[in-house]
Amino acid sequence: MRVLLALGGNAMTNADGRARPEDQIAAAGVAMSAVADLLEHDVEVVITHGNGPQVGNLLVKNELAASVVPPVPLDWCGAQTQATLGFVLMDALEAELRRRGIDRRTAAVVTRTLVDASDPGFERPTKPIGRFLPAEEAAVLIEHGETWEDRGAKGWRRVVASPEPLRILDAPAAQALVDAGFVVIANGGGGIPVVEEGGSFHGVEAVIDKDLGAALMARSVEADVLVIGTDVPHAVLGYGTPEARDVGVVTAAEMRSYAADGHFASGSMGPKVDAACRFVEQGGARAVITDLAHISDAVTGVAGTVVVPN
Ligand code: ADP
Ligand code: MG
Repeated sequence: MRVLLALGGNAMTNADGRARPEDQIAAAGVAMSAVADLLEHDVEVVITHGNGPQVGNLLVKNELAASVVPPVPLDWCGAQTQATLGFVLMDALEAELRRRGIDRRTAAVVTRTLVDASDPGFERPTKPIGRFLPAEEAAVLIEHGETWEDRGAKGWRRVVASPEPLRILDAPAAQALVDAGFVVIANGGGGIPVVEEGGSFHGVEAVIDKDLGAALMARSVEADVLVIGTDVPHAVLGYGTPEARDVGVVTAAEMRSYAADGHFASGSMGPKVDAACRFVEQGGARAVITDLAHISDAVTGVAGTVVVPN
């Protein structure tokens, strides 16, 4: 069985949201122990991950250092976090495998994801990124062509396009490494967004939804199961209300209808549910949404929210 495991941004930081290097290394250790459990059960694992907190930190460095070193574009931030997190996850996984006496090599691949230059997201950016700034500082960045929105008491926040991921250009490289027996980490942050122009590719100021990128990655490497590892054990109906009810095993059609009824928040659980439904609608056997503690049970038995074909 082959599993594509998507780790949420919070699986890569401390529970309180801190993202010092030691916090990220410790969080990676916890997540990679779940991966080692799967490998011990002879499950093949391909890993992808979020990068929201890490890109947010790079943007702050860009801002604060802009008069000293040139700021780098958002696609570069994506590439940098793929490489750094890939390295941190490789170290953590190999340490865990060595501890258990499992002989497997790991590899991290920097991957680009093709998006459409005419995606509506570029006209109407919706994805909030980076830190909040006071109106006067946001105004300077708006003059430089960025889109910022007034978010009330917290201040202003930059919004960027979150275009639909079409194809992972470097999936064949990841696939070749999987076939050669490597545990592969790839397509972090949904992939570096690129558009095609005159026969070549170039990066764009956008961020791809990590969960939608994971669904595409799962299909690209022909995974049987997509596991979306986050910080809640289930997707919940009536989340945060007295009638809250965990979703267990559910068909994609049922899950789509719960989504249409507004049960899943658009910036968090919504894309996970969409990704899970897409994966099984396009031929995947099963998609699971659960927390790190339940990943192994979710793959070898039943745990979490399990989306199955209709
Ligand atoms: P990740 O970093 O793993 O992508 P997110 O914060 O984006 O995590 O999404 C997980 C969060 O979604 C949960 O912590 C929870 O607060 C929120 N959430 C919103 N709606 C729901 C729901 N219906 N069921 C469960 N969690 C939900
Ligand atoms: Mg998220």
